[in-house]
Amino acid sequence: MFQTTFEELKLSGSLPSPAGVGMKILTLTRTEDYSAEEMGHAIMTDSSLTGRILKLANSAARGGFEPATTVSEAIMRLGSRTVRDLALAFSLVSERSAGTCRAYDYELYWARSLGRAVAAQSLSRILNIGKPEEAYICGLLGEVGMLALASVYPDKYADILETNGTENPDALLIEERSAFDIDHSQVGACMMSDWGLPESFAEAVGSFTSSRNISRSENQGEGMATQLRFAQILAEAMVVTKDSSLRSLDQLGRRIDELTENLEMNESAFNRFFDTCVKEWVAWGESLEVNTGEGVRLREVSELILHARERIANGETDEVAESKATEVASEQVVATAMDEKAQEAVAMDVGRFRILAVDDDANALDSLRSQLEDEGHDVYTARGGKEALRAAFKWSPDIVVSAWDMPDLNGLDLCRSLRRTSAGGSMYFLVMTELADEESMVSAFDAGVDDFVTTPAIERVLMARIRSGIRVAALQRKVESDKQTMYRQVAELGVMTRKLRATSLTDPLTELPNRRYAMKRLESDWENSSKTGSDFSVVMVDIDHFKSVNDNFGHDMGDLVLRATANLLKKAIRASDEVCRIGGEEFLILCKNTSESDCSKVAERVRLCVERNIVREPGFDRNVTLSLGVAGSDGGYPDTSELLKAADEAVYVAKDNGRNRVERASHMPAKTKGTQTPKADTGTRDAA
Ligand code: GH3
Ligand code: MG
Ligand code: MG
Repeated sequence: MFQTTFEELKLSGSLPSPAGVGMKILTLTRTEDYSAEEMGHAIMTDSSLTGRILKLANSAARGGFEPATTVSEAIMRLGSRTVRDLALAFSLVSERSAGTCRAYDYELYWARSLGRAVAAQSLSRILNIGKPEEAYICGLLGEVGMLALASVYPDKYADILETNGTENPDALLIEERSAFDIDHSQVGACMMSDWGLPESFAEAVGSFTSSRNISRSENQGEGMATQLRFAQILAEAMVVTKDSSLRSLDQLGRRIDELTENLEMNESAFNRFFDTCVKEWVAWGESLEVNTGEGVRLREVSELILHARERIANGETDEVAESKATEVASEQVVATAMDEKAQEAVAMDVGRFRILAVDDDANALDSLRSQLEDEGHDVYTARGGKEALRAAFKWSPDIVVSAWDMPDLNGLDLCRSLRRTSAGGSMYFLVMTELADEESMVSAFDAGVDDFVTTPAIERVLMARIRSGIRVAALQRKVESDKQTMYRQVAELGVMTRKLRATSLTDPLTELPNRRYAMKRLESDWENSSKTGSDFSVVMVDIDHFKSVNDNFGHDMGDLVLRATANLLKKAIRASDEVCRIGGEEFLILCKNTSESDCSKVAERVRLCVERNIVREPGFDRNVTLSLGVAGSDGGYPDTSELLKAADEAVYVAKDNGRNRVERASHMPAKTKGTQTPKADTGTRDAA
């Protein structure tokens, strides 16, 4: 049985969470009314975190600024919200431990994440999408859901990674959903919302992996996701090595081509951009202790890709079996067959295409080139099969028009070699030949050729054939983009379902986890504590004379007071504790690894905090008080319902003893034990 909701994943207690000061900041900023000063102080307790935040504040600064030297300057410059989010993200990085999932490459994960962060930051500057430091945070946490799945399901996730690899992200997401009912991008998005990061971050992270469509989006909201997609490609290029699989290199090459086209950068500008990103990546790697190596240059990456493609073209394959994932993904693609209208639209709007013309005869090649250029296409030429193979990998043409007979590598062998690679698989291949006999035609189609023209070609016929090829290439583009739209819709639907499920575990008034969540969580904490032999305690909390608040100030004011009290409770507990609203004016605090005696200190702090706080609302300017009952597993209760009952009885005693006080179940006078039949959410507890 696999857990199905993010809240249930959370219940496992194994989700990655920010360490030390990150957790402190998270707790501090759970409610809206924290001051930037408080947060600054929390950050300064960690000197390396301070250094990292200053580094980012200064790297984000444009000319004319003196470098920031203190956290408060950084807060002024970046805004307290951003600094808070950064502190969270950074503390998560330092929390990384050698994980337990055997197939998960943790070092590579962080190297890639950091690459994505740096790339997203740089892209944000040139594309003007979001703020650079926000892009950095999204980049850094972009695949945190993978880390989460590896932590929660180390074995099962290892199996999935081993059979699928990570090269085909869509297929991986599909596998994850079928195994866990949630995929890593959804988990990542939920985690980010859970940490209180802006909803737009969660949305970007929740959708960027699920689609390989990298075309630039007009929609500002999707802009961040697109930017992350671009950044992901750059990050993948940063982490390639000689040992990367042929397949992944081949695909990376294709993605880089798409990226440069989308960024509308020429080759040398893109080279410079990439190399600058890499430099920053290496510098950040030192600062965050993430292993980046010395950093590659784009030239080296391109060489690796070219080399891999040549090996594939020669028939080499990776050792690893072709993943069944590809099949899954392509099945989904079939589901997006286009309707006729869309096909017509494509036929009308063919646009500009990249055509590679190949012939060993210079004169023939020249005339072919000028005919194609006259039709308004981008034309590249190659004098022979081998040159064409390299050119095809380098330029990723939509259409290849090639002579058949060539001395070094003939047209059919060129086609076969191309078809072995992912980039070459989708090129429309037109071969020109004098031989139009049955045998030649069959062998041409068997080699993967799409169409052929007999030579000497009649210009009109040749151009008509090419137009037909262009229609196919255009259709292919359209299918690809439809597929991406579908992936995105599936992902969005997933996010919505997830949100609905989260809603069912959240109390709408106070936004605290509700009773349903509390009971699940209680069971799971209890089970953990029985297994590990650690202590576990609960505090039952009831607001005193709450009915009189309603009676004297109205129900709406009662609601405001409830909300204010809930916020106070959140602030007063420790980061590892959790508070839930389990009834009208009743709350339950769950304290892991805590004995009843230690828990009573937590309860006392909570009591004092609420007593001292004046709730100020128009027409209401006073405090409320609490009666609290504490019970711990060290009291020897057989199960959670007995534990709850004991805590509840302690609340009665607190009421009896004058309210605004804490009572411990183990200190109760014997006569009160079992004399009541309390129900936590009936709201009928009266100190008669
Ligand atoms: P005690 O000190 O004995 O706990 O007194 P009490 O008045 O708090 O206890 P009682 O159980 O008699 O009353 C609880 C009240 O809480 C009754 C109910 O109207 C009110 N209440 C429960 N849920 C809500 C809510 O969501 N909003 C508001 N405004 N009031 C609520
Ligand atoms: Mg009450
Ligand atoms: Mg009550």
